[in-house]
Amino acid sequence: MYNRSDYVSDKEWSRFLDFSKDLPTPNIVVNLNTIKFNFVKLKDSFPYAKIFYAIKANPGEPVLKMLADMGSNFDIASRYELDKILKFVNDPTRLSYGNTIKKSADIKYFYEKGVRMFATDSKDDLKSIAENAPGSRVYVRILVENSDTADWPLSRKFGCHPDMAYDLLVLAKQLGLTPWGVSFHVGSQQRDIGAWNDAIAKVKYLFNSLEEEEGIRLQMIDMGGGFPASYIDPTNELSVYASEITRFLTEDFGDDLPEIILEPGRSLVGDSGILTSEVILASRKNNTALTRWVYIDAGKFNGLVETMDECIKYPIITTKDGDKEGEVIIAGPTCDSMDVMYETTKYKLPISLKQGDRLYWLSTGAYTSTYASVEFNGFPPIKTYYM
Ligand SMILES: *Cc1c(COP(=O)(O)O)cnc(C)c1O
Repeated sequence: MYNRSDYVSDKEWSRFLDFSKDLPTPNIVVNLNTIKFNFVKLKDSFPYAKIFYAIKANPGEPVLKMLADMGSNFDIASRYELDKILKFVNDPTRLSYGNTIKKSADIKYFYEKGVRMFATDSKDDLKSIAENAPGSRVYVRILVENSDTADWPLSRKFGCHPDMAYDLLVLAKQLGLTPWGVSFHVGSQQRDIGAWNDAIAKVKYLFNSLEEEEGIRLQMIDMGGGFPASYIDPTNELSVYASEITRFLTEDFGDDLPEIILEPGRSLVGDSGILTSEVILASRKNNTALTRWVYIDAGKFNGLVETMDECIKYPIITTKDGDKEGEVIIAGPTCDSMDVMYETTKYKLPISLKQGDRLYWLSTGAYTSTYASVEFNGFPPIKTYYM
């Protein structure tokens, strides 16, 4: 149904088949070359920006080590991620604590490890930073509303209204912190580039009003993630995102840009992964049903969480591609009836598919490997291999 060569080159595909042929399923194979390529491409597209990789997208140690060696900085969401990245990064100025929801004890832990850059979006969190990480740089995350054009929205839970951000940055200074900048995240897999324009305009307002009214000169804009991986729904090329966003920035800030930070997750690692699953059963619910159910050994609880609400639509390749196709519902192996990946979205797969055939889920390098339940129904978390 999907053209594999639109997503993976012939050369990398045969390397993958060779690497994975004897691995038990389900599994995810991550191609480190793809991540390297994407990192270089992002750097070249935004030469003026500093990249902070959002570790949660794929916290595999080979991924972290390679990105650390290539000079990436890191956006960290928990003390566990911090411990992991400290194996590969000695210099804590390359790290930022980007989660706005944090325990005081964890703020203290980051401070003790040398981290001096913290995101916030509330008064109580800010006070806790002042107490446990005195003098640090803080940046305030603002709310931006673009959820209908992002395939995996991140609005609502994080960020505050720009008016509140203003108050927090003033308070930060009073508390002895360094009011450093403003951050936003336009939603993951954001297909509308205009989302950055609206967000940057809000940031510009904050920069101006804080300087004019309070004498606070902010230094940094953190533009979050949101850049796309290659799924079924088309997006613009990264170069188009880069040229448009750069134009938005220079329209508002001129040539003298503040420090610009990007926090890519999905766009760096998404395309690097292939999840291999095996068909357990292909069946019909009655003798004349036109739609078949295809049950496989991976599902919502081991690797395919982002099929929730059918948000992310992965391209699927099978070992029977080329045979006649029919409509299917694709479901996972557990006893939870929520464990159905695609039903509303009409996938078509070869009618000849049967037990033991393989389904390859392309672009599954982000938010899959560790975004899995521990042992629901006794199924172990999906295993990842790096090539
Ligand atoms: C998850 C997250 C990111 C990464 O977003 P992508 O859309 O995957 O690039 C960046 N910044 C923050 C604060 C995040 O929570």
